[in-house]
Amino acid sequence: MTAKLTIKPLKEWLPVSIKPLIIAGPCSAETEEQVMDTARGLSDIPQVKVFRAGIWKPRTRPGAFEGVGTSGLQWLQRVKRETGMLVAVEVANPKHVEDALDYGIDILWIGARTVVNPFAVQEIGETIGNRDIPVMIKNPLNPDLKTWIGAIERLNQMGLKKLVAIHRGFSFFHRSPYRNAPMWEIPIELKRLYPNLPLIVDPSHICGNRELIPGIVQKALDLEMNGIMIETHHNPSKALTDKNQQITPAQLQEILTHTILRRKTGNIEFGQKLEELRSEIDKLDEELIEILARRMNVVAEIGSYKKTNKITILQLKRWNQIIQERIEAGIKLGLSREFILKLLESVHEEGIRCQIEVMNHENPSEKL
Ligand code: PEP
Ligand code: MN
Repeated sequence: MTAKLTIKPLKEWLPVSIKPLIIAGPCSAETEEQVMDTARGLSDIPQVKVFRAGIWKPRTRPGAFEGVGTSGLQWLQRVKRETGMLVAVEVANPKHVEDALDYGIDILWIGARTVVNPFAVQEIGETIGNRDIPVMIKNPLNPDLKTWIGAIERLNQMGLKKLVAIHRGFSFFHRSPYRNAPMWEIPIELKRLYPNLPLIVDPSHICGNRELIPGIVQKALDLEMNGIMIETHHNPSKALTDKNQQITPAQLQEILTHTILRRKTGNIEFGQKLEELRSEIDKLDEELIEILARRMNVVAEIGSYKKTNKITILQLKRWNQIIQERIEAGIKLGLSREFILKLLESVHEEGIRCQIEVMNHENPSEKL
């Protein structure tokens, strides 16, 4: 699944080598005054090197504020001129790209709704052509790593090398305190597959609510993400879009002050202890996998027994009882209800798949 990516490291194209990369600015550019007030507030925070603002806003339903359009680009030119910050906007089609580049926008980004459409990504890439502009690619709304990778690969194969992935959470049907579930395993897998691709977090769209933001920023940096893109407004309660998740420049400063930047490695003693703990984990994982395999063999045996006796696979009563008992047992051992539920659901899903296979197999005993 992984084609190689040719990525230019951040420090080779960003004239500022600040770590982590902090991009901040309003969800939407609303008025020149709002843009300038916010930008002035942000320019007092030395870590903020890139100013973001949505000029064309993808709204879920028509009739809401859809962005000021091209006329707002000159405000961003002013931000750049007066504060020295680089400026970034979201583009969703070739016209946006042309206009943004005409106005000297430094960085483009592709939003969660556009990234799912290979035609749109292709057109955006073609319009950029050989203009060597950095592009940030948000994950798609749905938790689909392949689509995210596909868009990154597509742009890369069109010659764009200054690429950054943005993790903005995923739309998900389970109840969660977040507007978009972080599902950290997806960006972690992206990082595992493409360690050289810069990856930043958008805590605003993950949280949907400003109270949750500091935790997500800390977690992302602990996971070695390369920076954050955060929605900031000089007066969030009056924002025309995403007002619950925007923070003031002063609140951003506060979050940055309290965020701990942990080191990747420590001294020798630390390394030895870590090694010991890691080998303990390796051993436990080995046992865990062995137990899971043994459990799955028993499940297959049950499947074959059900087949012989013409009994259906899904036995809801039994399943509910398992969930209840295992959750109780797990909680007693200090595990969280959510974790056990997730684990059991995954084990159960695989068990059902395995039993269906047994049911469909001509001679199950051969397979077992
Ligand atoms: C945004 O950054 O304002 C935006 C619309 O984000 P997303 O594409 O992640 O929804
Ligand atoms: Mn927004």
